Amino acid sequence: MSDGGTTRVDVVLVGAGIMSATLGALLRRLEPDWSITVIERLDAAAAESSSPWNNAGTGHSALCELNYTPQRADGSIDITKAVTINEQFQVTRQFWAYAIENGILADRGFLNPVPHVSFVRGADRVAYLRRRRAALAGNPLFARTELIDDPDEFARRLPLMAAKRDFSEPVALNWADDGTDVDFGALSKQLLGYCVRNGATALFGHEVRNLTRRSDGSWTLAISNRRTREKRTLNARFVFLGAGGDTLPLLQKSGIKEAKGFAGFPIGGRFLRSGKPELTAAHRAKVYGVPAAGAPPLGALHLDLRYVNGKSWLVFGPYAGWSPKFLKYGHASDLPRSIKPDNVLSMLGVGVREMTLVNYLISQLRLSHPDRVRVLREFAPGALDSDWELTAAGQRVQVIRRDKRKGGVLEFGTTVVGSEDGSIAGMLGGSPGASTAVPIMLDVLRRCFAQRYQAWQPVLKEMVPSLGAQLSQEPALFDEVWTRGSKVLKLGVS
Ligand SMILES: Cc1cc2nc3c(=O)[nH]c(=O)nc-3n(C[C@H](O)[C@H](O)[C@H](O)COP(=O)(O)OP(=O)(O)OC[C@H]3O[C@@H](n4cnc5c(N)ncnc54)[C@H](O)[C@@H]3O)c2cc1C
Repeated sequence: MSDGGTTRVDVVLVGAGIMSATLGALLRRLEPDWSITVIERLDAAAAESSSPWNNAGTGHSALCELNYTPQRADGSIDITKAVTINEQFQVTRQFWAYAIENGILADRGFLNPVPHVSFVRGADRVAYLRRRRAALAGNPLFARTELIDDPDEFARRLPLMAAKRDFSEPVALNWADDGTDVDFGALSKQLLGYCVRNGATALFGHEVRNLTRRSDGSWTLAISNRRTREKRTLNARFVFLGAGGDTLPLLQKSGIKEAKGFAGFPIGGRFLRSGKPELTAAHRAKVYGVPAAGAPPLGALHLDLRYVNGKSWLVFGPYAGWSPKFLKYGHASDLPRSIKPDNVLSMLGVGVREMTLVNYLISQLRLSHPDRVRVLREFAPGALDSDWELTAAGQRVQVIRRDKRKGGVLEFGTTVVGSEDGSIAGMLGGSPGASTAVPIMLDVLRRCFAQRYQAWQPVLKEMVPSLGAQLSQEPALFDEVWTRGSKVLKLGVS
């Protein structure tokens, strides 16, 4: 519908990454008659953080990431965070299975089974890993995790990491066969394709420059065609800002009070990559180490088998990169322009306290190629400089939140910020990220469409049969949804 040159729609999704794509597919299914427009500033979908080369492709389910199982002062292991992350991934997994069964996704190639493995060196850490395994063993979500500390078994499972290794130093693995590698780019494109085939409009090469609230509670978006500079406006009852790093500036432009005090700090990622068949054949897992001192929680190094466009790759990192851009294809002015009177104290508070992070970033930026490969040799002792190339991944804009006592706190999770009336919401932060897109978008639906959420329950329960339940407390239900998901997604039922 058009209103004096302004097109009116029910829903606008800003950005064509995994978050908007997931929300679009959910809404398309729940409300087939609503008009939906997706606006993307680049010429392709999933070209920022959701591109397979801009993230690590780990289906984060806390099977191997050691930052989710910290050790308490008494030496016991806190598994609370690991259980939460795994529960979230189970929701995502169920929706993907539903999407395959219902023709939303036609190609399962975006998802591949790859073992998730934690790797430690040294007697103390081996003891930690043993306690971690014991703490997780009683939980149905982690029951199949194995502990491996025998060098021969280590070498059988991880030949690349065993070659030239000095096994006089104790090493151990927590091994979970249930892990996945995910091409979130291929997945986003399929989900958006489903939306467009079913009536949604996608505007590529168009940037949302501003947004203002009208007296009826709807939003007018000022949009610019980046090639022709042509301007247009769009009016929407509901706006989702799935603009990755650009979500914070857009929330600031919206003027909603809920966004006040938030600031962002960009941290880029870089990886070493090799497609050499002898190497990919000798490493068939995603292996996560212990986070380095000062590194952000998801900065733990990992050596990963990846599948992109049907080819196997090895990827090692992340090494931190730094630029003031909020998007990989953003502007150097992104960070300075995001500093406002309402968030300057939050920024300063963090700047003063996060010196360890700053020192870590500086040390990362100083690394040369031989330095990076030397770090890789902690995982693959025989690694050669010439087999590996450096690639630049995406930008993660970490959330800085106002804090009365400290001025501001730096967070590494994901936060949905939205207006009280539910007419606009945006997603800030990037961890655990794309793997939890489905539960995060279900949360957006619950918060922004409170009046309809109850009526949507039957369809939502078809999509995610465990909705509202805690699978770690319901082993029979977990078994049921796990087995069904494994079969539909062809992840192998063990
Ligand atoms: C180094 C790194 C490693 C990661 N590893 C993992 C991992 O292993 N597993 C995992 O689950 N997650 C991982 N993540 C996180 C994951 O990549 C992100 O959480 C996820 O891709 C974010 O999706 P999104 O849709 O919010 O943003 P994006 O994919 O960044 O999409 C945002 C889109 O919005 C567009 N846009 C921005 N501004 C505008 C505007 N004004 N108008 C129109 N369009 C606009 C952008 O061009 C972009 O296409 C990683 C991230 C990084 C950076």
